[in-house]
Amino acid sequence: MAPAALRRRFEEVFPAFLKTGQGAAVGKTTELTARRKDGSEFPVDLSLAAVQKGQEWHAVALVRDITDRKRAEEALRESQEGFRSVVENAPEAIFVAAQGCFRYLNPAALRLFGATSDSELLNQPVLEHVHPDSRAYVTQAIQQVEKLGAPIPPWVQKYLRLDGTVLDIEGSVVPFIYKGEKGGLVFVRDVSERTRAEEELRAKEYLLSESQSIARVGSWEATLQSGATTWTPEAFRLFGVSPDTFVPSAETFVSLIHPDDQPAMQAWMGACLAGLEPPDLEFRVPLQDGSVRYINGRGHLVRDAEHKPVRMVGVVQDITDFRRSEELLLLRTEELKRSNTELEQFAYVASHDLQEPLRMVSSYMQLLARRYQGKLDSDADEFIAFAVDGAKRMQQLINDLLAFSRVTTKGHDFKPVEADASLKQALANLTAAIGESQAIVTSDPLPVVSADSGQLTQLFQNLIGNAIKFRGKEPPRVHVSVERQAKEWVFSVQDNGIGIEPRHLDRIFVIFQRLHSAAEYPGTGIGLAICKKIAERHGGRLWVTSEPGAGSTFHFTIPVKGL
Ligand code: ADP
Repeated sequence: MAPAALRRRFEEVFPAFLKTGQGAAVGKTTELTARRKDGSEFPVDLSLAAVQKGQEWHAVALVRDITDRKRAEEALRESQEGFRSVVENAPEAIFVAAQGCFRYLNPAALRLFGATSDSELLNQPVLEHVHPDSRAYVTQAIQQVEKLGAPIPPWVQKYLRLDGTVLDIEGSVVPFIYKGEKGGLVFVRDVSERTRAEEELRAKEYLLSESQSIARVGSWEATLQSGATTWTPEAFRLFGVSPDTFVPSAETFVSLIHPDDQPAMQAWMGACLAGLEPPDLEFRVPLQDGSVRYINGRGHLVRDAEHKPVRMVGVVQDITDFRRSEELLLLRTEELKRSNTELEQFAYVASHDLQEPLRMVSSYMQLLARRYQGKLDSDADEFIAFAVDGAKRMQQLINDLLAFSRVTTKGHDFKPVEADASLKQALANLTAAIGESQAIVTSDPLPVVSADSGQLTQLFQNLIGNAIKFRGKEPPRVHVSVERQAKEWVFSVQDNGIGIEPRHLDRIFVIFQRLHSAAEYPGTGIGLAICKKIAERHGGRLWVTSEPGAGSTFHFTIPVKGL
């Protein structure tokens, strides 16, 4: 039984077949739908052959029920579609390549490469979409899969999106036959973010390691309970050990430090374990070459939510250079102190001992002058007068030198001194000069300072004395003020005198240096040298600011006590 449509077609072509034995279906197998008596339909295979009997042609038909085959084919088609839908919907990018070209890409793979349809990539060489850095690897992988049929273990390589941007891809390949071609089934994932994060981390680690090496600072971390300890590369370098051979721990670490410093280190670590915040600890590390490295260690306890110490983190810093220069400085300071003391003693002894013979010369010269004045010729009178004057000047110089050396050798201890009182005393000592010059000296309220009161008086006296001595045409006006600056008092003695040329500002503090002749202004040039020495002995400084013709201001500092 055949369905109506088939029957109609049969009736159209069959008469011609009977005559010629020719027909489209002859010699072929055709799939048809047959109908049973009960009206149900089923698939059949119809094979037709033509046989001639006399003038007529007969058709020999072989009909086979193919219901089971059809069912199997349907099931296969369904399963293939199911499989394809899994691949199409997989979140993971999957593609098939054969002969080095893309043959199939699932939507996730298309998205990965930045394609909107597979026509943009299908049948294109895979290598065109691989970053030059990864081309050698991918070329070799394609060969391995296609020629040897071997799988490729997971890899990370650089690919290119269609817009040219770089993709870091993690993937794996299994050999796969696609539509009869030998190729590979490739599972890939975009790991650009992860790679970037890893690169950033690597860059940060590099930066940390470089900065630690430049600063010669290493760091470490120890878990208190397990004792697990990690060191940075610089920490290993500072202790002169290799990370390949040395396993850092509380015990092994102590063995690296100088035996004399080990007890202190043990105590330090004990305090850490007891949960105390430990102070800095300095220790030495003997190195292979026999030298010693000085290290400053600093640690910090890390506590958990219940405030229990769980970890210690810390840094170790190489302070060898600092210690060496400190030692050198100490040595130099000692040397300097010694030579300074020697010099002071020399100046004192020399000036003190010179006084005696000079007094003799001076008194005999004066005797000579008194007794023989006018009795010898006029030249002799003049010569004797020169000699008397020279001896006087020499005496003055020796006195000055003695006064200068006494600033340190005969100075008194520092006590709290009312600077106002010292100033008052200085002004009392200057009564004659003030009266004579009609000077007006004013001052701000002055603080209590830690000083040698006699020397503070001398300082004020010398500066105010000079302010009066080096006056201009106007009657001298002198003002003493003070200002607190951070850790020191800055005193100023300001005048309206002749001023000092900028090029002489430093010279005037040197012993016996003067800018004028004794005839213009009397003096020996010792005053400011003494003032400078007094200021320095008190831990301060002395300097001047001045404008020729407009007056000068001398400043000196005294440290604020207790700071
Ligand atoms: P002296 O007063 O004995 O000359 P000083 O050491 O006190 O020695 O001063 C050195 C030089 O500094 C002085 O000769 C003078 O030229 C200059 N000088 C000091 N104080 C003043 C001042 N207030 N004004 C101008 N010049 C000054």
